[in-house]
Parts: sequence; C-alpha cells; structure tokens
Amino acid sequence: MSSGLRRQALAAILATQPALARQDQKVRRLAELYGMNVFGEQAMREHLPEAAFKSLQATIRFGKELDPHLADLVANAMKEWAVERGATHFTHWFQPMTGSTAEKHDAFLKISGERLLLEFSGKELVKGEPDASSFPSGGIRSTFEARGYTAWDPTSPAFIREGTNGSTLCIPTAFCSWTGEALDTKTPLLRSMEAINLAALKLLQAIGRRDTRVVYPTLGCEQEYFLIDRNYFLARPDLVASGRSLLGARPPKGQELEDHYFGTISPRVLAFMEESEHELWKLGVPVKTRHNEVAPSQYEVAPIFERSSLAIDHNMLTMDIMKKVALRHGFVCLLHEKPFAGINGSGKHNNFSMATDQGENLLDPGTTPAENMRFVVFLAAVLRAVHVHSDLLRITVAHAGNDHRLGANEAPPAIISVFLGSELTEVVNALVKGTNGGERKGEAAMRLGVSSLPPLPKDATDRNRTSPFAFTGNKFEFRAVGSSQSPAGPNIVLNTIVAESMTWMAGKIAEAERKFGLEAAIQQVTQQVLKDHMTVVFNGNGYSKEWEVEAERRGLPNLRNTVDALSTHDSEKNFALFETYGVFSRTEWDSRGNIAFESYEKAIHIEALSLLETAQTMILPAVLKHQERLAAAVGAARSANAGVDLYVQENLLKEYFELANELIKSLDRLRSLIAKGETIHDGPQHQKARFFRDEIRPAMEKVRGVADQLELQVDDALWPLPKYREMLFLH
Ligand code: ADP
Ligand code: MG
Repeated sequence: MSSGLRRQALAAILATQPALARQDQKVRRLAELYGMNVFGEQAMREHLPEAAFKSLQATIRFGKELDPHLADLVANAMKEWAVERGATHFTHWFQPMTGSTAEKHDAFLKISGERLLLEFSGKELVKGEPDASSFPSGGIRSTFEARGYTAWDPTSPAFIREGTNGSTLCIPTAFCSWTGEALDTKTPLLRSMEAINLAALKLLQAIGRRDTRVVYPTLGCEQEYFLIDRNYFLARPDLVASGRSLLGARPPKGQELEDHYFGTISPRVLAFMEESEHELWKLGVPVKTRHNEVAPSQYEVAPIFERSSLAIDHNMLTMDIMKKVALRHGFVCLLHEKPFAGINGSGKHNNFSMATDQGENLLDPGTTPAENMRFVVFLAAVLRAVHVHSDLLRITVAHAGNDHRLGANEAPPAIISVFLGSELTEVVNALVKGTNGGERKGEAAMRLGVSSLPPLPKDATDRNRTSPFAFTGNKFEFRAVGSSQSPAGPNIVLNTIVAESMTWMAGKIAEAERKFGLEAAIQQVTQQVLKDHMTVVFNGNGYSKEWEVEAERRGLPNLRNTVDALSTHDSEKNFALFETYGVFSRTEWDSRGNIAFESYEKAIHIEALSLLETAQTMILPAVLKHQERLAAAVGAARSANAGVDLYVQENLLKEYFELANELIKSLDRLRSLIAKGETIHDGPQHQKARFFRDEIRPAMEKVRGVADQLELQVDDALWPLPKYREMLFLH
C-alpha cells in the first residue's frame, strides 16, 4: 500500500522501544569533561614557554596585535597537544555567509625523503587558503577576485572534534577575500565588538570613569529545538527538504493543556540531552539549563553567557552537536523556526549586555548612586539605539523561516519595541519628568547620581513574553532571533547600533559639560535621550491588534515579513552607520542584502517544489484511491437501492469529489506559478522575492489547506505521511 514508509516508521517505533543509547565513555565527571578538548588557558600554559603564553594572553584579552614570531611556537604547541589526544588532522573552522560553519581537513602529514613528519607550521595556523569560490558572496565575487583566505582568530580557542574513528584539531578563523572584504560573519562581528569597546570607553570617560580598559559585549543564547523520531523524519520528504512540515492536519491535542512546558523529561530525550551536554562540555561550551518547552516535543538548552564572539562560536557548535547526537539516539533535531503549523515555533533568545575588564556589567543597576547613574546612562543608550535603528534590528531576524513567527501572531511581533517592566518604566518616566517617582512631588528635580534616585528594580519580575526586546534585570533579551539562525548577524547589528548610540551620547555629554559641568551634563543628556526615545517602550500585550494601531501612531515600523524588512536594507542611513563604525564597507553591506534576498527566494522555491512533489506523488494518489473506494461503496449502495441513506452517502461522495478537485486545481496552480517564478530575474525591485511572497506562498497555503482537510477524511491506512499526532506524541 502507498503508505509504506509511514507504516514502516510506525512499526519500527512501536515494535520495541529501543534500549536507550548509552554513551561509551570513560570520563563522566563534569570537572574532568569540561574543556578537555579545548586548547584553552591551561593547555597553553602547559605547552607554551612563559613569555609566549603571556603575549598570547594579551592578544586574547586586550586585543593586542599578535606577535608574528609567536605563530610558529603556538602552532607547534597546539599540534603537540592535539596529537597527544589522537588528532590526525587540522582544519580552519569558519563561518561563511551560509549561516552555518565550514571546514576542510588536512592531515598533519609531511613526507621528507623516507621520513614521516607530523607538521603544523605557524603559517598553516595563521592563514588558510580553502578553494572557497562556491560560498555565497552576494556579488563580491563578480567584482573582486574569487578566492578567499581564512585567518586565525586567536580570541576563540582551538578545539578538538572527536569523530567515531579519529579526531580533528579545529582552529576558529575569519574568512576574507584577497581584497580584504569580509566573506563571513566572524570578521564583521569582531569589528563590531571593537566598535562597542571604543564607544563604551568613550561613554564611560564622558561620565567621569577612566578606570576601565576594555569593554566587550556579552551574550547568552537560549536555544529552542524540536526532537522527532528519525523514522518519521525520513518518511516526510518535506521535512527532509525544508526542515519544516509543509502539510499536516492539526492534531486533536496540541499544546493547549500546557502540560509539556517544564514537564518531566522523557528518559529517551534526557539520554540525548546528557550526551550532547557531555560533548559540549568537552569543547568548553558552558551549557547549563535544559527543559521541556511549550510545544509537544519542543525543548530548550541555555548556556552561561560569554564574550559574544565566543558565545556565537559556541552556539554554532551547540547546533551542530545537537544535530549529530540526535541521530545517535534515533532522533532528528529540528532547528527550523516553525517545523509544525499551529503550535509554538522555536526562537533563540539573544541575551545581551556589556562587561568591563573589571567584571562590571554595564546594564546592571548596581547598588550605589554612582552605579545607578552609570546604569541609567547605558540603558538610555540602548533604548536610543533600538528606537533609531529598529529597522536594522528587524532585518537581522528577517528570513523565510522566521516569517512564520514574527508578525504571524506568535512570539514576538514584527514591531520592534522594548519592554522595561512597570517598575523601571516608572523610574524612567520620573527621570524624564524630573520628579521623584511621584511620591515626593514638588521637590527639586531629581538628579542622576545622587541619593534621591529611587532604588532601581534589581529584577524585572513581570516578565513579558510578547516583547521582542525585553529588559530582564541586568541584560536585554532580543527574542526575535530565529532558532536556526547564526547569532552573528543580530549581534553585529546590535553591537554597531549600541556603539553608535554610546558615541553619540558621549559627544553630547562632553559638549554640555563645557557649559554646565559634568553632573548637569549627564543629567540633561540622559533625560533628553529618555524623553526622545521612550516611545519605543511598550509593556503591554505585543500580540494585540491595539498594539499594531498604537505602534503606527508612535511611528514604529511594522515590517511584517522578510521582503518588507529587507526592502529597508540598502538605506543610506545603514551604509553610513556601518562605514562610520568600520563594521561593513558599502560593498560588504550591499552583498549581505543580496544574499538575504537570494536565501529567501531559494528557501521558498525549495519548499514549493517539495510541497508540489509530495502532494502530487504521495497525497493525491491516496486521495484518489480513497475516492475510488468511496465511489465503489456508494455505487454498491445505489444498486442495493438503499433509500434515504443513499442521499447522505451521495452527498458525502459529492463533497469529497469537490475537495479532491480542489486539490488537483490548487496543485495545477502551484505548478504554473513555480514555473513562472523560475523565469523571473531578480532586479533592484526584488520582483522575484515579491512574487514568491505574494503568489507562491499563498498558493502553497491553498494546497496545504485542502490537503489537510483531506487528511481528516481519507482512510488512515492509506495516508502516506506520518501525522502530527504521531510525530509530536508517539516516540
Ligand atoms: P530565562 O529563560 O528566564 O530568560 P535563562 O536562565 O533560561 O532565563 O537564560 C538567561 C540567559 O541569559 C542565560 O544564557 C544567561 O547566561 C544569560 N545572561 C545572564 N546574564 C547575562 C549578561 N550579563 N549578558 C549576557 N547574557 C546574560
Ligand atoms: Mg529561557
């Protein structure tokens, strides 16, 4: 029968629950596991001469330029350390503009006459030359030379990836063209971190703080994901091709009982979590929290926050390792933003703050008046950044997968606003008005940095899940980031816009200080910034219709989908911003926009083709088979001359015929639209992307709507695809 794969999947799952996959590991103690495969501080200390160690640490911690003589020493130390641990190969590990990571392995192998040498030189450590002409470049390639090179990023430690039968030394690198254009996400990220550093130092100095040497952005990525049994996955061509189900009727039970969130974790899922955590700990990824999420079969993992660049490398490793470990447990780990319609999608909450070399969190309200003052100044800078550049933040989360979350009445909305919580909002409003929180009206205007500042809330207790950018006590949580995305894009932009805002405020404070003195200058500028940008603060329900109306009144953009968001990509404001802060050249920023549009078109194209094929070759035959049986049954009833019942049955048949016809017609329409879409060449107006959004997506929805209705009518034994109720609940 046509439902072969589905039947086999079910049979495999129902036969006997496979024994939980156990790790075959000698080391299990957390203290031994943690960082064992990282060439970190301890390994460096052990394998490098004292002076070299110190010099490398200065590069890592304070961004001091790397001493070129160091490279050979470090390469040799790294090789020895790696070979001791069984590594046979090394690779430059980089993050091209595909959104994932890339690697090309070479053995430490050198033959000299008859002799075998294990070699890894400083040159090989510092620079690699992968034949990289097949990575997306967004047009840079056509104007410049095709080849690129990878350059060692000493701020992220090298690590060993263990394979089943061998191990590979991985060296985190940046990836550039020969003419110096960034072809990856790491290069602009590091530039944006430098922008944060310079700007935050300026702002600290402007408020009279000269004791800080380095400021860096910190990041903690909460990663959501789904796990489904691999047998189901393989029986669903849509999941295989696009990572999400393009068909599937809503199950009778979804997430409405709210019985999954924080529920007890099933032993099979826990076995997967434990093994992935072990693997991640070995790589020094500080994963800490695990729990069931809201939707059935949905989970979350969260690490302890780190310096952004490291946190991003670690998030990329987390996604990669989870996918691989899942397979060993007979699962597939789905990172798509919306694998299943009708239940919650997956995000990646991007917790952002800034830290100093003294260990201070600049977004922590602190306990002293001076700390409170510093906090309010940096808070104002972030608010201003988000308000002035909300379109840019929106762009960083715009892609085909995320369109099913943002603006689709699911967490969070496409309007970028900030949640401060009622307590902090009151404090800020009081600051703006120059009153003291209302209680002591009539007193002299409240002054920042003096004890009349009301105690600041240490904890934002009223958490608001509907806000895309929420203050949560001592950090901001950007919740619009999609689960499958590299966190690099959002953080490059976040760093740059906050840097711009801090620089701007530092300038304004310095200017006012000459006239009014330091304290008054800080007070005035901060007050003015808060006053001008409180319109971006919204503490209410972000999903409500009223908010859309209100946001429009406030002039906040509502860029509902990828095409709308990306249409603002190439504005002069954006080019100027990135150029000023040295994060993207014009060519680089332009190329990123092209890639984003291309990826959008390609994603929908693949989905459309997959849907067409699946519906045409799997659903339609089942539908027609059922029709044939139904017609035969009704025919039999007719010849038996069964009276009144016959009317009911004929009606049933008629309605079924209509649905089946609708399916055929909607498939015809989808097929011709795809053919038309394929002929469109994308120009500056992005007609192709618009066509995919306005014509193909709705045509896909139409096919799905009909097919999902039919799923609820066709004989279950004929239905070829694993159903939602099975994938989400039976494993
Ligand atoms: P919740 O689910 O309540 O938002 P979690 O504890 O799951 O909170 O996640 C919070 C995340 O924020 C963690 O990854 C944590 O390390 C991170 N985080 C905490 N403080 C900071 C900070 N100062 N900078 C960046 N991230 C932070
Ligand atoms: Mg969380």
